[in-house]
Amino acid sequence: MYKIKEIKEVEGKFWVSFYKNPLYPDGKGGQLGDRGKINGIPIIEVRQSDKEIWAVLKQDPKCRECEIELDEKRREDIAIQHTSQHILSACFIEITGIPTLSFHMGEEYSTIDLDIKDISDEKIEMTLEMANNIIRKCLPVREKLVTYDEAKHFPLRKKLSPKLHPTDTIRLIEIPGLDLAACSGFHVENTGKIGTILIIKKERVKGGLTRIYFISGHRADRYALNLIHIVQNLSSIFKVPYQKLPEKGEKLLKELKEEKTEIAKIGTILAEKIAQDLPQKKVKKYTIKYYEGEEYVVVPLAKISHEEDLLVLKTKDRFILVSQILSIKELVTKLKEKYPEIKGGAGKTQGNIVGELSLEEAIEALTHIIENL
Ligand SMILES: [Zn+2]
Repeated sequence: MYKIKEIKEVEGKFWVSFYKNPLYPDGKGGQLGDRGKINGIPIIEVRQSDKEIWAVLKQDPKCRECEIELDEKRREDIAIQHTSQHILSACFIEITGIPTLSFHMGEEYSTIDLDIKDISDEKIEMTLEMANNIIRKCLPVREKLVTYDEAKHFPLRKKLSPKLHPTDTIRLIEIPGLDLAACSGFHVENTGKIGTILIIKKERVKGGLTRIYFISGHRADRYALNLIHIVQNLSSIFKVPYQKLPEKGEKLLKELKEEKTEIAKIGTILAEKIAQDLPQKKVKKYTIKYYEGEEYVVVPLAKISHEEDLLVLKTKDRFILVSQILSIKELVTKLKEKYPEIKGGAGKTQGNIVGELSLEEAIEALTHIIENL
């Protein structure tokens, strides 16, 4: 049972603090925080502010001394992801000499930021191989409590946090022969518990850093199974063995590009024919021509020089208005006054609009606008 110190209501949620807090806060040391239930009410967040740790609940737990049911499975997953980070960071130093500058654990994947602009896939693979070999060796992960002064004399992978105080007890996490770091998070007792680590992405991020995305333990199993499922599906859709999927994709893209070029050519030829005999009407001294058709005809049609004063074109998704004499900007503004749901914009001579409007309605509205210019 845990004795509640304070309950406060913040924006409709209940923040609860304890005299002896057992909860790990979200984001501390880059790690995910605890979840579970307080008096049966789910914890949705664990916050740290001003040295106080708060469990955030949707409802008042209505108790002064509470049962806290910790989500142990989540803790185990966090320990696996976190220990994987120690191993990966240490292996990146071993293989490439590149230090990790920061770590962030998410609900789906975790990331470390390496102090380098770019890193080769080959180096990443070598690092990953070393990390997974460490896991398979089933090395113990040991915890040591030392004073701040003692900690300063250990060969730590990263410098002690400036937030630490000289009177603090420092918790060191050691993987013998590989890593020694000060850390307050959760860790497994043996590297074997991790199962496997997967690096799923690398990305260049600002500050000249490379972000490495990784997952391990059950997350890695689920990721691999999901990937297998997707690849099998694609393989059956495209009727090629999975090894040939990239080749198949490239071939299809090339074909698509060629077909698009062909369609554009045909569209231009058609547009030239259609332009000679467009339906038209006269409003005051202005000739309005209009046409409704496919995008591949309408687009070249808008570019062909016209004898009309206003060209109104419609595809199934949009209108194109063209004029060298009338201000399209003015016409579109007035059209929007009549139909406020219309989206899109216009320059002086051409405009693009989207709206639930038929070609007839648009012509009628434009006629009215022009008559009143
Ligand atoms: Zn740690």
